[in-house]
Amino acid sequence: MSTGTLTIDLDALARNWRALDALSAGPVETGAVVKGNGYGMGAAQVATALARAGARKFFIATVEEGAAVRQALGDGPEICVFSGHMAGDSTMIYDLKLVPMINSIDQMLRHVEMTPGHPFGIQLDTGMNRLGMEAAEWAALREIALQQNPRLIMSHLACADEPDHPMNAHQLKNFKEMTEGLSVPRSLAATGGILLGPDYHFDVTRAGVGMYGGLPFAAAENVITLDLPVIQVREVEPGETVGYGNSWTAEAPAKIATLSAGYADGLHRAFAKGAHVFAGETPCPLRGRISMDLITAEVTHLPKVPESLTLMGPQQNTDVLADLGGTIGYELFTSLGARYKRQYLGA
Ligand SMILES: *Cc1c(COP(=O)(O)O)cnc(C)c1O
Repeated sequence: MSTGTLTIDLDALARNWRALDALSAGPVETGAVVKGNGYGMGAAQVATALARAGARKFFIATVEEGAAVRQALGDGPEICVFSGHMAGDSTMIYDLKLVPMINSIDQMLRHVEMTPGHPFGIQLDTGMNRLGMEAAEWAALREIALQQNPRLIMSHLACADEPDHPMNAHQLKNFKEMTEGLSVPRSLAATGGILLGPDYHFDVTRAGVGMYGGLPFAAAENVITLDLPVIQVREVEPGETVGYGNSWTAEAPAKIATLSAGYADGLHRAFAKGAHVFAGETPCPLRGRISMDLITAEVTHLPKVPESLTLMGPQQNTDVLADLGGTIGYELFTSLGARYKRQYLGA
């Protein structure tokens, strides 16, 4: 076994979904976002576990992501597509029973022409300027769209991970103005919006990163553990260097372990400064640069070097690593390497 093992705890994932669900009161339905191959963890396994936990509404980015999710879920649960109804999507929308979130008048016309009577939702832009209809476009389409019975009207918050950001209240106000008096179910909140409180919950929430154990859901349980096999251990003398560019020099006799994983597996080169691998709870600092398939760590202080060391886990989670890499947990989740062996616990 020479590739890393990514262990995905589906029970922890389900508990995180339930914890987010418990934050909204009463009849609010908590959906589950499984785009990006279930944030890198495997859309089919993740969707199956969440359906077992009680999720009935799933969200993906593009229709191409729908096949694996529909196959895993069977016919019942609703699968909504953020990118809406693009040219070439109609067959998959129909066959896989996907619900496109219509983003423009053009998409609405395409939907009615290509898949008449097929369920759809509406996506509105309340200020993020990324997806969805702006107020004027929505005003022009509104009557026609409502006659076709949309399943859901949604919008997305740009700054929900900053609770005090004035953009949140601004978008909330816009969303209310654009949807006032309609009897269609509404959705505004992703993980950050759920944490902003009940004003933001409406009828359906769209839990994403928090279920997978990431910020801004600080109370989330850790879901993934990444163990990397030790290929080789060597002694280096004072003055010897390790890795490309001689970027680390031993000042005292040291023991260096070479582990199987590198930037081709999503390990950002910026992790080299500050990240550790762990033998149980004992941290071992990375030494030298991260290369394509290998990293090197100092294990001088370990009485015995284990067969593998842990890079991601409760000891050092995705958000800690993301910080070192100048990025966010989302990017690390979705960069988890294709070479890792994925193993699933629970559900
Ligand atoms: C990705 C995404 C979500 C989920 O966001 P999280 O921050 O991961 O909870 C919800 N809605 C839309 C439109 C998205 O693009």
